[in-house]
Amino acid sequence: MANSPDKKSEIAIKVDNVHKTYMSGDVEVKAVSGISFNVKKGEFASIVGPSGSGKSTLMNLIGTIDRPTSGAVYIDGVNVSKMNEDELASFRNKKMGFVFQAFNLINGLTAQQNVFLPLLANVPEVPEAQRYAKAAEVLTSLGLGERLKLPPSKLSGGEQQRVAIARALINDPSLILADEPTGDLDTKSGENVVKLLSKISKERDVTILMITHNLEITEYCDKVIYIRDGKLEKEKVLR
Ligand code: ADP
Ligand code: MG
Repeated sequence: MANSPDKKSEIAIKVDNVHKTYMSGDVEVKAVSGISFNVKKGEFASIVGPSGSGKSTLMNLIGTIDRPTSGAVYIDGVNVSKMNEDELASFRNKKMGFVFQAFNLINGLTAQQNVFLPLLANVPEVPEAQRYAKAAEVLTSLGLGERLKLPPSKLSGGEQQRVAIARALINDPSLILADEPTGDLDTKSGENVVKLLSKISKERDVTILMITHNLEITEYCDKVIYIRDGKLEKEKVLR
């Protein structure tokens, strides 16, 4: 169609005048106060800001784990603020992958078993051999083909975070949300994890939104969103 938008210009995340107010006892805490921004499909964007500036709150709103007090969040054009809990659970499973600072892997399981857990949640009927094969394929694509059968405790921090990234990719999400994914890693491993996220966003056309404290690693991002005191301070487009 002549009018169909170029894929790269499609909006994956639209945050539209979002406010989030918490009650802390009798005191209102305005964690997010009227933030708006867009992230395009396939873009690797980061949110930076001081501690307490509202980054995690914003991530939870985008990840549909929490709802805005006012304003709306659109994921791939869908207003998620209007969905009910059941719709959200299935939407999250199918569309989103999550990566955390502390990896959140299960130690009694191998790397491979950790990776297929979300697949099981999404398509419980998938045969066992297929689960193992898909997890092996994703882990191998992230350079962990030799580590499939090891428990997280036998892996380095950088390797554990790569397993967590494989787990986030197992359901072929359109969006990955990563809250301080390098926070528990040394400089070199952290840089490798960010380079890997950048590569994934380019090669798989996955949109990635990463929260970070570390300005140095934002050089691998396409866009940096600065927030302070729950407000958007500035946006910097790098490429
Ligand atoms: P960041 O991730 O940038 O460190 P947060 O989003 O965690 O910031 O927090 C922003 C502000 O909102 C802080 O003042 C924090 O104390 C407050 N806050 C976050 N979550 C809650 C909550 N569940 N209840 C009350 N206050 C909260
Ligand atoms: Mg936080």
